[in-house]
Amino acid sequence: MGKNKNSLPKAAIVTGGSRGIGKAISLKLAEKGFLVYFSYVSRDDLAEEVVSEIQSRGGEARAFKVDVSKKEEVEDFFKNYIKNKVSLDVLVNNAGITNDGLILRMKDDQWNKVIGVNLTGTFYCTQEAAKIMVRQRYGRIINITSVVALSGNPGQANYCASKAGIIGLTKAVALELAPRGILVNAIAPGFITTEMTKELDQKTREAYLSKIPLKRFGTPEDVACLVAWLSSEEASYITGQVFSVNGGLYL
Ligand code: NAD
Repeated sequence: MGKNKNSLPKAAIVTGGSRGIGKAISLKLAEKGFLVYFSYVSRDDLAEEVVSEIQSRGGEARAFKVDVSKKEEVEDFFKNYIKNKVSLDVLVNNAGITNDGLILRMKDDQWNKVIGVNLTGTFYCTQEAAKIMVRQRYGRIINITSVVALSGNPGQANYCASKAGIIGLTKAVALELAPRGILVNAIAPGFITTEMTKELDQKTREAYLSKIPLKRFGTPEDVACLVAWLSSEEASYITGQVFSVNGGLYL
């Protein structure tokens, strides 16, 4: 595991790391030498499996039950485990949910939950991480948005709004934090095979596939590789950008 100048371990936080894209990101960043702290909301068993898998490959990781939509939980996590304990080099805001419905039928609760986790959760974690990174004068923040933030998608007004909000947040924070040596970028995955997309019916999946020029769905690793590169020294002149990982898909 790498250490920084003041000999604290170089850590990366990944929100929603117990499965899917977040799991692949956690594995990849651990492979690159980061001490990985990832959050999840349920399924202790899955989180423990991810920690074991990382350890069996020679990496280091810890899992934390932190609901990113709850300000107090996020603040406590940063205060108790991050501040003055590690060098927080990377934050990946990956935790996200869907709760689809057409606009005419969408309930307040459906709207608020999706905005709460995807957008407000990203805000809470970014704010806490920025307090630490500003003092370090170093940091990378990578926000996971979606292709539908750019294109829209029927039945997903809440999700599209949350993910489009993440793009605005990314660009504003990139400008604010650039003078402090902190780089902030977003990744917009297309259709990636995870539990989230397994919920879609066969007809919808085939309809998406027919629109993907590379003729396959993406893998969580396709996204994780870009996160690893954006976390590396090779990406030190890149901020405020949105990168698509979508096989050429544009809905
Ligand atoms: P997933 O449902 O498989 O995993 C989501 C993860 O987020 C889980 O680890 C879960 O525990 C965690 N999580 C959910 N709510 C949380 C909360 N309140 N606090 C903390 N953690 C929470 O999803 P996925 O497909 O791996 O998606 C990961 C991210 O990528 C999401 O932001 C999603 O919107 C985005 N994305 C996915 C796709 C895709 O095709 N799968 C496409 C574009 C964008």
